[in-house]
Amino acid sequence: RLDAVETEALVKRRRAVMGRNLELSYAKPVHAVKGDGVFLWEPDGTRLLDVYNNVPSVGHAHPEVVEAVARQASQICSNTRYLHETVVAYAERITRTMPKGLDKCLFVNSGSEANDAAWRIAKAVTGNSGAIIIANAYHGISDAIAALSPYSGPLAIPSPPHVEALEPPDIYRGRFREDHPDAATAYAADADRVIAALAQRGHRPAALMIDSAHTAHGILDVPKGWLAQVAEKVRAAGGIIIADEVQPGFGRMGAAFWGFAAQGIVPDIVTMGKPMANGHPVGLAVTREDILASFTGRVDFFSTFGGNPVSAAAALATLTVIERDELQRKARETGDFFRAGIKALAQRHQMIGDVRGSGLMTGVDIVADQATRAPSAPEAKRITNRLRELGVLVGIDGPYGNVLKVRPPLPFNREHAELALAAMDRAMEI
Ligand code: PMP
Repeated sequence: RLDAVETEALVKRRRAVMGRNLELSYAKPVHAVKGDGVFLWEPDGTRLLDVYNNVPSVGHAHPEVVEAVARQASQICSNTRYLHETVVAYAERITRTMPKGLDKCLFVNSGSEANDAAWRIAKAVTGNSGAIIIANAYHGISDAIAALSPYSGPLAIPSPPHVEALEPPDIYRGRFREDHPDAATAYAADADRVIAALAQRGHRPAALMIDSAHTAHGILDVPKGWLAQVAEKVRAAGGIIIADEVQPGFGRMGAAFWGFAAQGIVPDIVTMGKPMANGHPVGLAVTREDILASFTGRVDFFSTFGGNPVSAAAALATLTVIERDELQRKARETGDFFRAGIKALAQRHQMIGDVRGSGLMTGVDIVADQATRAPSAPEAKRITNRLRELGVLVGIDGPYGNVLKVRPPLPFNREHAELALAAMDRAMEI
């Protein structure tokens, strides 16, 4: 039986006790009380197709993950300084998906914590203090990582002197576009400016932290070779590379299991969270022996819950399903089909300016005018609210608030894509 709590009353109760910082999505807030695969249900029985949530990566309430959590919780969830096999098994399995040498795991509880740990390690191992990020980046909520997250707003980042942002390699709306003969090199040159700007303020780079899907920038199709060129410049200046895989990781991009691999680079630290345990809070930083040794030789890094047996069981079950059910290959195939369908909609709907992405990570750039490419945040908002009324959930992202973030759980298949496309077609009618 579905929960009978009145949605409207719950909104009021929530507003009374929770801060305004955490705004609810959609004009008509979603009140999900049950999930199954790519669907959610509200108390009145309304079914919603989830084309937004990447956290339930193998589908809402996946029975194998539920069973693993329940079984482990019924046995033991105890001190992470005691021996437990599951976390070791997980570390063995996840490092097998990484390039050789990336084989040391540091378990925490969120993407923010994984990035915070990675940033501390980067400073310790390089002896440097500067951070290089991409403009509009989002990496998390700790004080140190909020400083690397201009996306969170000017209060979170009062332009700290140790941080410098790279120009995003945006070939749709940026300085160098799809017709440029070598946009990768043209954009990568900005790394020289960034390194020089840091040096002027007395900082050498400790790290480049990057989400290779550029999710916060509205999901970019990065010109081939850009990240490799930037990484080379950062390393030459003494910094290491932190790949924030919170968004692109675990097969979502289809082309590769990890976003950095799709971009042809090998980072020094890989961080992950969100989709790692299908909704259970877990975070992880993976790095090399030499890098970790220079940090843990000086610091006893202990996280009470990081890698506890229940979290490890949830993560292990999730990884098992992703691999066994070949969800990376399916993400690639369904993603290609879905994007082709959205591109076809652009023939009829002038507000679709660009369709970008890979696998089941798609950005639909909504414009006021296809010729000028002027972003239209109000139209993007109208479409997502209309889609929600039609029973389909998509989000919004990007620096102009105009990119539809289309990022469903990985079991999203062709049939689901067809449902979403039909709803998008209707929602885009003016
Ligand atoms: N990095 C990226 C790229 C993210 O998108 C997020 C969350 N949106 C984080 C880090 C932070 O993860 P968490 O919310 O688990 O702390």
